[in-house]
Amino acid sequence: MRILVTGGAGMVGSHLVDALLVRGDAVIVVDNVSTGRWRNLAHLEGRPSLSRIEADIAAPADSLRQIAAVDRVYHLASPASPVDYGRYPIETLMTNAAGTRAALECAARCGARFLLASTSEVYGDPVEHPQRESYVGHVNPVGPRSSYDEGKRFAESLTAAYWRTRGVDVRIARLFNSYGPRSRADDGRVVPTFCAQALTGRPLTIFGTGLQTRSLCYVGDTVRGLIALMERPGLAGEVVNIGSPDERTILEIARAIIALAGSGSGIERRPLPADDPTRRCPDIAKARALLGWEPETPLATGLRLALDAFRAEFSACTGAEVAVPSGAARALVVSGVHGRGEALPAPGNGWEPR
Ligand code: UDP
Repeated sequence: MRILVTGGAGMVGSHLVDALLVRGDAVIVVDNVSTGRWRNLAHLEGRPSLSRIEADIAAPADSLRQIAAVDRVYHLASPASPVDYGRYPIETLMTNAAGTRAALECAARCGARFLLASTSEVYGDPVEHPQRESYVGHVNPVGPRSSYDEGKRFAESLTAAYWRTRGVDVRIARLFNSYGPRSRADDGRVVPTFCAQALTGRPLTIFGTGLQTRSLCYVGDTVRGLIALMERPGLAGEVVNIGSPDERTILEIARAIIALAGSGSGIERRPLPADDPTRRCPDIAKARALLGWEPETPLATGLRLALDAFRAEFSACTGAEVAVPSGAARALVVSGVHGRGEALPAPGNGWEPR
């Protein structure tokens, strides 16, 4: 099959592209590399079945118009870390509005099946727990997270409208905290941040009490869920949670990462960001029933894989092995990772591809 992946240079997107190429599909990736990185696909360089287009799908020029024939559209493009969408709220809203429209128009034109990668953020700070797909959410429409929450809610609504009125076969996956190799160490999310801090002997920054919960899903499991939802016949219009029911506090996650890294890092308290959800855990009964899907990777296994990837990345930057001896609070200088070279552009410096 020919498959379009918007946001294919991101963490989840690049693992999805890997899986599709292994299946024998031809893949077109469109990404503006604002928060993703082409180096996430560097290991696929030269593959004739992979094409890359660097473009902003929300731009009026409609870069997806040039795509004439695809069978599937996976729409993942959007900043997804609170730090990233907090820096770029307008771009996040427009990617989810105009960008989603462009991706849906492409699917309609090509007669392709369409999958929206949505998010548990559509549930906001939930009052129902665990969250079922029928829960309509508790979202602050003007808060600091609203560009992503409301952007994705709009994207879901637009996707449902293309199904109802244009007959496009759409599916909506609500992803809960995916993690794994290829995240940016500076993306601000809990797993990359804690891994980088533990591997460099710096204190892990706990926001608030650390008693807020998240349910972390290893990216390999997420990708299996996305493909199952896309490929299972007869699921047009369905919304399915893709996440792990293994709910942990942030403190537990911090302790696990410190232990697995063999790090001597301590913890440092920071204020809780506004509207940070208190509890988050998916009900995955629907995914189990419709897709026969559930996560298989235990948290410790997934965190080890994430840590290994950061270790490799850091030692490639320093040219030295990153080793933090157990029990030692040793700060390592990791130039090029936390340094200016890799930092996101400051707000106001535009939305330039990197
Ligand atoms: N968090 C934290 N320290 C950090 C980064 C995040 O304590 O350095 C917390 C954050 O407050 C939230 C949870 O970890 O409660 C998950 O945050 P993340 O940014 O990964 O994503 P979210 O699930 O909030 O979208």
